[in-house]
Amino acid sequence: MSKETRYIFITGGVVSSLGKGVAAASIGAILESCGFKVSLSKFDPYLNVDPGTMNPYQHGEVYVTADGAETDLDMGHYERFVHFRASRRNNHTAGQIYERVIQKERKGVYLGGTVQVIPHVTDEIKKAMEATADGADVAIIEIGGTVGDIESLPFIESIRQMRIKLGKYAVFIHLTLLPVIYGSGEIKTKPTQHSVKELRSVGIQPDILLCRSPHRLGEQERQKIALFTSVEPSAIVGVYDVDNIYEIPLILEDQSMSSLLREKLDFQSLRTPDLSAWKELVRTGKRCDKEITVAMVGKYTDLVDSYKSVNEALVHAGWKNHLKVNIKHVDSGLFEDENGLREFVGCDALLIPGGFGVRGVEGKIAAVRYARENNLPYLGICLGMQVAVIEFARHVVGLEGANSTEFFDNPTHPVIALMSEWQDLQSERRETRSGDDNMGASMRLGEQGCRLLKDSLVYKMYKCEDIQERHRHRYEFNNRYIKPLEKAGLTITGLSASDERLVEIIEIKDHPWFVACQFHPEFSSTARDSHPLFQGFVHAASRR
Ligand code: GLN
Repeated sequence: MSKETRYIFITGGVVSSLGKGVAAASIGAILESCGFKVSLSKFDPYLNVDPGTMNPYQHGEVYVTADGAETDLDMGHYERFVHFRASRRNNHTAGQIYERVIQKERKGVYLGGTVQVIPHVTDEIKKAMEATADGADVAIIEIGGTVGDIESLPFIESIRQMRIKLGKYAVFIHLTLLPVIYGSGEIKTKPTQHSVKELRSVGIQPDILLCRSPHRLGEQERQKIALFTSVEPSAIVGVYDVDNIYEIPLILEDQSMSSLLREKLDFQSLRTPDLSAWKELVRTGKRCDKEITVAMVGKYTDLVDSYKSVNEALVHAGWKNHLKVNIKHVDSGLFEDENGLREFVGCDALLIPGGFGVRGVEGKIAAVRYARENNLPYLGICLGMQVAVIEFARHVVGLEGANSTEFFDNPTHPVIALMSEWQDLQSERRETRSGDDNMGASMRLGEQGCRLLKDSLVYKMYKCEDIQERHRHRYEFNNRYIKPLEKAGLTITGLSASDERLVEIIEIKDHPWFVACQFHPEFSSTARDSHPLFQGFVHAASRR
């Protein structure tokens, strides 16, 4: 453990989904604006080894880091708020920690001792927490779940122990909810009192409380919470609802977050942050008076967190174009008959994001056909590229029965297939890339190089030839179909930089804006650096 690293531990109470990740990221943004190197990590108490195999309905989007880890969507908030690159070191689950402890036990590392949650599991957690710091001035560590859950106890116990070792170099921040009673409009502090009581019962007295509520926190409520929780009134910070999450760093700093941290962490070198970039972002957001609507066709439309990074990337690109982007989430199931296409009336562009499994695929193919035939700007991401290829092969090239082997066994034209199905590979590579029973680890994952064709839309947007983008997929464009598809007007404008020359980007020549990519550009769009592909897409939509 670096002697100098300060640790900020963030827990949550009352209910989940209060925005702990955004709060952690916003504190990170404040500290970064003070000139510090910040690392952000999340420890999730569930037993899955990673969220890669979890249903987006339960967990929201799976965020992919540059080094190819499938992680919690909060990693996305961290990277969008702070100039920090998350890696597999920054997201741990109870499943991973227990797996490590059990492996050690099998190897005899514990020398015949009884393996227990305390100290063996907690020691493993503490080790992982210390590793996250990696030379940072401040390591912010978020504990997933809510205080009081059985699963989170080993994590809470670990941070309690870390505090003993770190003393003034650690601070506990607890995020709770202040609900408002419908009708009376009264803010209720009782759930917060109970949440803090729960935290204290496991040995942690919070230093700072973040109180999420629909309104600003009144002085009376602040005093009352202070009285019951023994947190001084000045360390009770209200986080009220805002339309623009990038305003949160400003809201926190308005209530003296940096001076609170200076005092609590004995951090004399912590100066007042320069938050002008955040102020500018908020101002830009407010100034966008023109609006466009992007239809996003997916199958998890009830939980928009399933497409969190795509939603955010569209917002960022909107600001660059001085536009407010409305996203209309449309269920791909609707397009199974012609009526569904009415959903596109009034939409300026279509986006099909990544996805897995056959459900809704024919609907997505119908939607992309509509975009192609009606000159609607189209951005396809991963599965969105694969359906665009299938659609083009079927309806332009006339390859009836074109499909992906993910959705149909032995299609007449496997235009999308596992690499092992269309390429003669050395057996070694085949084993690592596909045909693996281990569902959580058989994909092309993480950042890889791609070379762009100079005479292309994408080259105009990226303004360079070599790019790095993040992947998360098993299937690929089948190179055996490159020739017939190109002959019919599809252009391949990006190829993998590796020797396999995999198709990474396609465009359609006679269309105002049709770009689809095998990678996920949304993971590298940030509030301050909007992604060029999204910028180009939103710009094309605004010209319609
Ligand atoms: N299901 C497709 C594949 O595995 C696409 C994945 C995605 O969109 N992320 O190749």
